[in-house]
Amino acid sequence: MSSEFKGIAIVTGAAQGIGRAIALRLANDGFDVAVNDIPAKKDQLDTVKQEVNAAGRRALSLYADVSVDADVKGMVDQVVQELGGLDVMVANVGIPGSDGSVLSTSAEDWDTVFAINTRGMFLCYKYAAVQMVAQGRGGRIIGACSLVGKRGWPLAVHYSASKFALIFGCIALELGKHKITVNSYAPGPTNTPLLQALPTFAQRVRYLRYISRCTAVGHAGEPEDIAAAVAFLASKEAHFVTGELNIYYQWGSTEIKRRR
Ligand code: NAD
Repeated sequence: MSSEFKGIAIVTGAAQGIGRAIALRLANDGFDVAVNDIPAKKDQLDTVKQEVNAAGRRALSLYADVSVDADVKGMVDQVVQELGGLDVMVANVGIPGSDGSVLSTSAEDWDTVFAINTRGMFLCYKYAAVQMVAQGRGGRIIGACSLVGKRGWPLAVHYSASKFALIFGCIALELGKHKITVNSYAPGPTNTPLLQALPTFAQRVRYLRYISRCTAVGHAGEPEDIAAAVAFLASKEAHFVTGELNIYYQWGSTEIKRRR
């Protein structure tokens, strides 16, 4: 058994990468964890569920598409019914989308990325907030942003715009009186299947070149590095942190290269 019981969490996009690392970290920190992903990731998600159980915590697998209103509402309802409430929502899902050049991105590509990254996160925030306000015991809402959203990024026209939309300070202002904090984490380059699966060779080369030259530490982070930051945002100690975009990852800029 891990540390004392801390509450009930949902982590979306938890079959792999950063989401999986967050689910396992929260389980080790004392949360019961409901892990979400799409049905195509069933085997991986069931393994993560078992890993949460192995940490001595209750777990649920939730197969739902976060871009679908009824799926997200159903996911929160199921967690409340089967685990007894909701204290932490980690809206972690994000997709890079295809191509990403302003010259060739179609309106359909744009809509797909926005449906999953932006509407998906809004729906997770909304249904988590509805539940947390009704419970009246506060809560933590945490979402995956990206520095690509803050700074822009070549060949990511839809992804960077979708992530920029996610800072959501307005929700933090609305929910503060309910003792619900709302924060986002902005991973720098992190070793996950998303990074390895960037759709075009040009995107991969550009990203890897940027990692080696323009991060302060000169290398990508691991999913566990991001999970540690999220674990803090989910903790009681973080009650005075809200409306923030939290960037922990030594992400530099071209100036770093020039100074070296
Ligand atoms: P990943 O691609 O490895 O994992 C994302 C998971 O989300 C996958 O398991 C996928 O099946 C799931 N998913 C996709 N669409 C879904 C949907 N509609 N409903 C439910 N699940 C869905 O990603 P990652 O690298 O672990 O990234 C996690 C988050 O961090 C994302 O929001 C990403 O944009 C952000 N991020 C990652 C990096 C990085 O370098 N890896 C950098 C900046 C931001």
